Amino acid sequence: MSLKALMYHNIGKPPKEANLKSLYTNPKLFERQIKTLKMLGFTSITSNEILDFLNGKDFKKRVCITFDDAYKDIFENALPILKKYNFKAIIFVPVSLVGDYNRWDFERVKVKKPIACWEDIRQALKEGFEVGSHTMTHKALTDLDDKSLKQELELSKKILEDKLGIEITTFCYPYGDYDDRVANAVKEAGYKLAFSVNSGHIQKGDNPYILKRLHMRHNTNVFRLLLKLSILYR
Ligand SMILES: [Zn+2]
Repeated sequence: MSLKALMYHNIGKPPKEANLKSLYTNPKLFERQIKTLKMLGFTSITSNEILDFLNGKDFKKRVCITFDDAYKDIFENALPILKKYNFKAIIFVPVSLVGDYNRWDFERVKVKKPIACWEDIRQALKEGFEVGSHTMTHKALTDLDDKSLKQELELSKKILEDKLGIEITTFCYPYGDYDDRVANAVKEAGYKLAFSVNSGHIQKGDNPYILKRLHMRHNTNVFRLLLKLSILYR
């Protein structure tokens, strides 16, 4: 049996002028998706259980819900729904942009999307959600020299650990951009797992530094969700 990790970005309605509207999931649709998972008997897992799975433990009907970029709308619109259905999630934080906005792509997407503040993140942790690193500045890591790469990986981990008082073990590649050198640097920096944007289920024997996910888009209705969860999906 495989594990399914779901990848979300924004939970909310896109502003009219926004590009890349496919990154937004309407909160009503999000609730239908979570409700469907609950009805099907799925429960949620975070990084510890994924490690256990990769190390041989069997799990049935488990999903790992992930949010890239730690947008404020996740904390306002998604976490209350997840709490209602007793689901956990992992939130990936671009550390130098906490309390700021999506400086890396606001020109391209034509909208400044607020990123959560430390207080939001602390509160989510208290409520049982997991936090992972999404680098310092959300740069494409394969473009960086070894020194800048190391800084993006190690400093983001250290700041999260200092600010939150927990160990940070999970990482997510900005733009899903990685190669062997980058994946190796993630391991060297002390992370145990890293999520890509490669599409598919997580299988036993997968590389823990190239975890696949299912892309949740604006039009992922319940039928499409079921298709993505099915054994036929690649
Ligand atoms: Zn991102």
